[in-house]
Amino acid sequence: MSDIIQLLPDHVANQIAAGEVVQRPASVVKELLENAIDANATEIKLIVKDAGKTLVQVIDNGKGMSVTDARLSFERHATSKIRTAEDLFQLNTKGFRGEALASIAAIAHVELKTKLDREDLGTVLVIEGSEVKSQDVSVTPTGTSVSVKHLFFNIPARRNFLKSDTVELRHITDEFHRVALAHPNIAFAFYHNGSDLFNVPQENYRQRVVHIFGTKTNEKLVPVEEETEVLKISGFVGKPEYSKKTKSEQYFFVNQRFIKSPYLNHAIKSAFEGLLKDGYHPSYFLNLTVDPKSIDINIHPTKTEIKFDDEHTLYAILRSAVKHSLGQFNIAPILDFEQQSSFDTPYDYKNKSAAAPSIEVDRSFNPFSDVSPERSAKPSYNNGGFKSAPAASWESMYVGLESKGNNSPSDFSEVTFESDPKNESIFSDSTIETTKTTFQLQQKYIVSTIKSGMLVIDQNRAHQRILYENFLKHITIQEATSQQLLFPLQLHYTPSETKIIEDLKANLEHTGFVFSELNTDGIVITGVPVGVPESEVSIILEQLISDVENDVPDTNFSASDLLAKSMAKSLAIKNGQSLNSTEQEHMVNSLFACKEPNVSPTNRPTFITMAVDDIEKKFM
Ligand code: ADP
Ligand code: MG
Repeated sequence: MSDIIQLLPDHVANQIAAGEVVQRPASVVKELLENAIDANATEIKLIVKDAGKTLVQVIDNGKGMSVTDARLSFERHATSKIRTAEDLFQLNTKGFRGEALASIAAIAHVELKTKLDREDLGTVLVIEGSEVKSQDVSVTPTGTSVSVKHLFFNIPARRNFLKSDTVELRHITDEFHRVALAHPNIAFAFYHNGSDLFNVPQENYRQRVVHIFGTKTNEKLVPVEEETEVLKISGFVGKPEYSKKTKSEQYFFVNQRFIKSPYLNHAIKSAFEGLLKDGYHPSYFLNLTVDPKSIDINIHPTKTEIKFDDEHTLYAILRSAVKHSLGQFNIAPILDFEQQSSFDTPYDYKNKSAAAPSIEVDRSFNPFSDVSPERSAKPSYNNGGFKSAPAASWESMYVGLESKGNNSPSDFSEVTFESDPKNESIFSDSTIETTKTTFQLQQKYIVSTIKSGMLVIDQNRAHQRILYENFLKHITIQEATSQQLLFPLQLHYTPSETKIIEDLKANLEHTGFVFSELNTDGIVITGVPVGVPESEVSIILEQLISDVENDVPDTNFSASDLLAKSMAKSLAIKNGQSLNSTEQEHMVNSLFACKEPNVSPTNRPTFITMAVDDIEKKFM
């Protein structure tokens, strides 16, 4: 039998490598940005069309390449960054595998323009699917421009696998954020379909964080600085009250490389212990500097995971540094982060002792026990007054945590309530009180009798179902009424978060939201759906953003459905909320008036029944 093993031709090997290196347009963005940084650029421009499906271009003012290097750069394992295996242990560059350009050129149309500083003319090289189409001399500025068009043109399966533009653009934005955050000393610009999404000058780290996450971020940041023999830490953590429901603001950079490390993340979480509400995640933007010899970056092709020699020590140092800063923040709240001049204020914590911050949470708070008449009489979202409940409950959870900003929603809530028409609530009908057919179990379940036996309703899920159908109805028939706010409500979001709201704007308007402004810095709301308390608005929108981010909504995604679900989740009364018998009964009736009463919007059972027969069996 003849031999059957062959060496793969280079272009096939490159395509296979591309499968690892290039998953989506965002991977191309990452590789090209990193090459520009390795070329010592001080200005980098990223130009993207159609979320990278049509074009990804990176232009830098770095050192450029000679004609020969330009040609070689597309060969596999061609790199200027390491020469020997030992070099792997003292890496000061992002790249070193020499695969990126070769891989990208195997699956796209690439045009490279590059010029060395000392030369008058540069080189233009066009490569399509690993094949050099042309090479010319060209007038071009010093530095390099790489444009990548028609990604995956020769791998239709991969192209079809790409997600919607919204999702792909979000991946690109994430990569861009990571690189821009790691290099505040480089100016970056980012254009998508002709409009500029970011334009940041060379600046310091705090300014960079603020530029990317919005001006309001400044007041959230608590500086963390620590220097030991094995590790230098610098950067910021977010104050606990600004923690988020998503992990979208968690950044570790090790030697200016973005990395993911569940282990180090845990160190930070544990430093925040006792300061975060359930389900919330701390924000952090931390730069760790370690000896390149003590890490191994080689374990993942996209290099987002690295191995540390002494993880335990890093864990301990990181945890104590963050704890220290948080403690400091608690005893020195007078520091005014609002002022631009404080941008570089050093945090002089080393001379002071730390104190654990404390939070008051009034768990026994019962919103129904002394609700003012104005409050309980608030018109509800077509739903018989349940709305007053979550408002009060949420507010109680934030006791001592409320931000003292001018726009603090609770400052205005009373004013708004006063202007509300005082509908008579069904709760004032005292005759209902006497016919008690339901009771509440553990402030979580509503128990009622039915002909065949017993009914146990999960109050949170049931209320979600009721609200969900209500919202959905309004969104689809588009005739929700909105209640005007006395003072416009300004909310600050990162540009990518604003984008999510923008995409859902039409649907949000159908529920009754009125927006007067939507720009890169956030949004201004002048009207909210009737019955939605102003104090809930930011919670609803944050929940919504988080849901969209986590759901990665795509082709089958119905924006209205997601919005209705998300709002229902935010506004539904929670477990632990006590309900009086009228409210219980109203809940039961509303639930069974629903089209699909037996499941919550997320398809979980809203109630169970227990037949008398079953109960009888238990007594046998
Ligand atoms: P790596 O970055 O791992 O070395 P790449 O395939 O990304 O591999 O790049 C190959 C080589 O091409 C690099 O080592 C570098 O010498 C050169 N190169 C790539 N991009 C640029 C750029 N923007 N400016 C200057 N040289 C570049
Ligand atoms: Mg590279």
